[in-house]
Amino acid sequence: MSATPILPGPVAGGGRLATLGVMGGGQLGRMFVHAAQALGYQTAVLDPDATSPAGRVSDYHVATAYDDEQGLAQLMQRCEAITTEFENVPAGALATLAAQRPVAPGPQAVAVAQDRIAEKAHFAACARAGGVGPAPHAAIVSPADLAAVPDALLPGILKTARLGYDGKGQVRVADRAALAAAWEQLGRVPCVLEQRLALRDELSVIVARGADGAQVHFPVQRNLHRDGILAVTEVVPGGVSPVLAEQAIAATGAIAAQLRYVGVLCVEFFVVDDGSAEGTLVVNEMAPRPHNSGHYTIDACDVSQFELQVRTLAGLPLPTPRQHSPAIMLNLLGDLWWRDGQPVTPDWAGVLALPGTHLHLYGKHDARPGRKMGHLTITAATAEAAQQTARAAAERLGIAPWR
Ligand code: ATP
Ligand code: MG
Repeated sequence: MSATPILPGPVAGGGRLATLGVMGGGQLGRMFVHAAQALGYQTAVLDPDATSPAGRVSDYHVATAYDDEQGLAQLMQRCEAITTEFENVPAGALATLAAQRPVAPGPQAVAVAQDRIAEKAHFAACARAGGVGPAPHAAIVSPADLAAVPDALLPGILKTARLGYDGKGQVRVADRAALAAAWEQLGRVPCVLEQRLALRDELSVIVARGADGAQVHFPVQRNLHRDGILAVTEVVPGGVSPVLAEQAIAATGAIAAQLRYVGVLCVEFFVVDDGSAEGTLVVNEMAPRPHNSGHYTIDACDVSQFELQVRTLAGLPLPTPRQHSPAIMLNLLGDLWWRDGQPVTPDWAGVLALPGTHLHLYGKHDARPGRKMGHLTITAATAEAAQQTARAAAERLGIAPWR
């Protein structure tokens, strides 16, 4: 990363605007583009899909494959610096960009997050320095690894080392026979077997770290998943035990610092029910980018995770974020556009009639079950008021109640 900040607006002498680029055109890229443009940057998106959510709102859209040399060259020609919105950008493409432009996060950090085996090794190394460790697990790369799996890891969850998201590439296994069958089913690719834990809660922490090592973080998020997909995030007073929150924030800070990370990083945690009063933290995984559980920051904090992504990329100051309103975020999946097999339009007017509702739809045309189409953030003066409105909104949309 360059030490000189990339300032927004017209470059000295005029004639053009400072431009920031992003690899990937999904909803995270779209919200990055919105934040960058609000500050006065132009943006460029590289995504092969001509109608991608981010490409559609960006000043420039390079519609080539991620590893297309001409596409990468065009992106570099347009941009002062480049970030990424999803962790599966080919490592070689990021390295090509990083050779000529500031790229944050860097290719090495993204490579660790791309591979569950490397990621867990990093967590374990951080835990040895006094942090929070990963779930008991074993890497399975060969038939010998499969045979050597300790009984204590079963029942477990077999996860592909690469390319998993939203619970995809995961199989729950009860015993050794199921494990062997699952590994076959996943094509004998490198995997991690994790012990299945009794979860009391799921938390996440988002930090932003600058090239100078300065770090700031958002409050700890409490997350509810359904079918392996984030459904609800709550960030309200009293939502998370202060002891666990402090541990999670410290662990996230160490994970970022030891990677010499530059950018926005999210670390997901499990709170395991182990009979103790509060439960015990285990680190699950990290995302080298803004995270779905941080979308509430747009409407409930004085600086959003996407603006911090812009700031880390441009080398701008990182103020400590302040949450000004209790918030609840509901993910809006494609299922909401279907009822009893018939297509429907969700009751947006009914939802927007509720106070403190902030609707974000990502510009995706086709609502498919399980597809993230948007999110709804509810802000209110108190946790109770936010919860009440969130439940009313969920009912109007046909989202099943939680808790
Ligand atoms: P994403 O990247 O979208 O967050 P993913 O596909 O990488 O998801 P994980 O975060 O590994 O998946 O798991 C998805 C969810 O499955 C977790 O949030 C949790 O609810 C459940 N889960 C995963 N691992 C375990 C485990 N070891 N024990 C119990 N539940 C688990
Ligand atoms: Mg996850």
